[in-house]
Amino acid sequence: MTVATQDNKMDLSLTSGSEEVIGPLTETVQTASHIIWDTVAANLPRDLHWQFILVTLIIASIIWLIRGGRGSRDAAGRERKANFLQFVLPKDIYTHVSARVDIWLWVTERLLRPLWVVGLLATVGPSTETAVIGVLQWTLGATPEIAVNYGWMLLYSLVTLLCYDFVFFLIHYTMHKVPALWALHKVHHSAEVLTPLTRYREHFLAGPIWAAGGAFSYGLVGGLFAWLFNGGIIAATLFNIGFFALLFGFNGSFRHYHVQFNYPRWLSLWLHSPAMHHVHHSYLPQHWDANFAAVTSIWDRLFGTLYIPQKDEYTPWGIGPDTQSEYRSYWQNTIGPFNDWYRMLLKGNSPQAGATKAGDIEQN
Ligand SMILES: [Zn+2]
Ligand SMILES: [Zn+2]
Repeated sequence: MTVATQDNKMDLSLTSGSEEVIGPLTETVQTASHIIWDTVAANLPRDLHWQFILVTLIIASIIWLIRGGRGSRDAAGRERKANFLQFVLPKDIYTHVSARVDIWLWVTERLLRPLWVVGLLATVGPSTETAVIGVLQWTLGATPEIAVNYGWMLLYSLVTLLCYDFVFFLIHYTMHKVPALWALHKVHHSAEVLTPLTRYREHFLAGPIWAAGGAFSYGLVGGLFAWLFNGGIIAATLFNIGFFALLFGFNGSFRHYHVQFNYPRWLSLWLHSPAMHHVHHSYLPQHWDANFAAVTSIWDRLFGTLYIPQKDEYTPWGIGPDTQSEYRSYWQNTIGPFNDWYRMLLKGNSPQAGATKAGDIEQN
């Protein structure tokens, strides 16, 4: 403990350049590291939570009742009328090869995760947050030690959500626009049917990118709030569940479910409805590169990529008839990015140079 404190003192004295501020700052950094670690731990082990599946099923049942059996999609992404069982658990979707590949890609990612998760989360989050505190300390001085109340805790939750959503938006946008990264993210989009497990359908090399982005965003906000409140703030909760985790968890589960859940237009302008992510998975040209964020519509609105679909709008999922057959099996999805990168290298002097053409062709 003493050693760790001493290390922090040495680190921080480099950035702050002042002896007086080191004491409280060291404590701030240690407390904030805990907060970040907990937030990351609560959100990043990206597995299915039965509570969210249950809520998804309850809402789907209500939609089935209200719409008289309409509003779910078949394996081709078309809306159809269905009996209750076919509505909540359609055979054509859950026996599809794509749903099976979802499972094996998830298993692969889970098995490889221990190789990177601890090192990445233990360094990216806390070091980002230490840097933020250091910069604030250096530019604005010692922590103002604002007294914590529930209002501030809510604000902390909200800012965390917005910051995470923005980093998610940026990473996601980059993955679509940079061909070498699209080769990786294409594995998520090669899903021909959507199931709650499709949420975790990613190439195993994409996992660390998303995780680092999450840890970085928590570090940014954690550092800011640790400085403002001298490390004494935690995110607001309802029945012990963070609002952020609640919203993120629910949205993540439902947006990869085949039932079309639209929000009223005014709400869609602020929060992504599950139906808006169906659009993101569509291979129709009018749906390309839309709805990048995880939870809110704010960033897509600001950057002009928001697409609110019509009721029961046709959204065929996958990467399109031209290239889908190259990205169907587990093996194709696992080695696909390496194949693409190799082709890019052959075509140009750099992966980027050759990639532009290859990326364009693939997105068609
Ligand atoms: Zn995407
Ligand atoms: Zn998705």
